[in-house]
Amino acid sequence: QILNRVLDLKGNIRVFCRVRPLLSNEGNAPIGYLTTPGMDIVKILSARKDFQFDKVFLPTSVQDDVFLEVEPIVRSALDGHNVCIFAYGQTGTGKTFTMEGNKDQPGVIPCTLQWLFDEACFDKTMSYSFSLSMLEVYKGRLRDLLVCQQHSTHLSIQMAASTGYIDVDNLTEMPIMNAKEAGNFYQQGSQSRSTSCTNANQTSSRSHCLLRITITCAYVLDNHKLATTSKLWLVDLGGSERLSKTNAQGVMLEEGKSINVSLSALGDVISALQRKQPHVPYRNSKLTQLLRDCLGEQSKTLMLVHVSPKEMDMAETVCSLSFACRAR
Ligand code: ADP
Ligand code: MG
Repeated sequence: QILNRVLDLKGNIRVFCRVRPLLSNEGNAPIGYLTTPGMDIVKILSARKDFQFDKVFLPTSVQDDVFLEVEPIVRSALDGHNVCIFAYGQTGTGKTFTMEGNKDQPGVIPCTLQWLFDEACFDKTMSYSFSLSMLEVYKGRLRDLLVCQQHSTHLSIQMAASTGYIDVDNLTEMPIMNAKEAGNFYQQGSQSRSTSCTNANQTSSRSHCLLRITITCAYVLDNHKLATTSKLWLVDLGGSERLSKTNAQGVMLEEGKSINVSLSALGDVISALQRKQPHVPYRNSKLTQLLRDCLGEQSKTLMLVHVSPKEMDMAETVCSLSFACRAR
């Protein structure tokens, strides 16, 4: 409760930065930027600029450190707010590691699922139910990841004129009873994703992968049965690297362009919301149309920006940090 109030005071949009460690096959490549523990600032030595965040995770941070900071935002979804959590960054910087993690180091998605069921069980005054959907935005089109490819139909986004709520026609929504069951659906969905090879990363994901958890909370107030519904989106965005670097051609060029368009549309929406501009340009991409009712004043947004520690990636790092700071 107190955490939530703090969150409200600080506004609806938070931006965290995670600097991944050098991997074992990367040797001791020099680390060309500085982060000061406790300062939540990333300094780029060559660019004369400091980038300020709500939180910076150093290469030594572990998954639990990240989830500890993400938890208050997940809690606000349980409290009835719509929430979007995004992993942003160049391919290979750890977006999937943060969101998904692995068996020994579970990421934000498995931790969130476990946390939700634990909390729901703990709170006897409310009756919670959860359902899960999973989809991909690939070359500007939506694909349901929980139906087999042959049966996959074209999904379209509808907005209810009266309420402003967004609905995706024909999107599969599976009721989930526990974290394990949810995890199984997630695995199933992951296997249906579109991936292709780029020079930047062998199995780079050239699409945005979105997990939606719908939370229904039923309770009794003055002998009336009431219910609220909220949506929690956990989004592993496509790689933000600029096209020239990947030598993309043909299909890959098309995929890359589409990702760049939707990422800048997302940046524009977040920036407009942050600056309380009267016009928020939701219509410029499928991604922002889809998340429209979860990106706004009543909602909470968390952007987790990922950067590489390598000198070689400095130009992309500066781009990602600049994108992120525009959102703050
Ligand atoms: P992305 O999804 O952004 O393309 P990945 O999550 O696939 O990047 O990460 C690239 C590689 O770096 C993977 O082998 C991953 O396990 C590793 N990695 C990323 N972040 C971390 C981290 N914080 N700690 C340890 N390994 C990491
Ligand atoms: Mg990935």
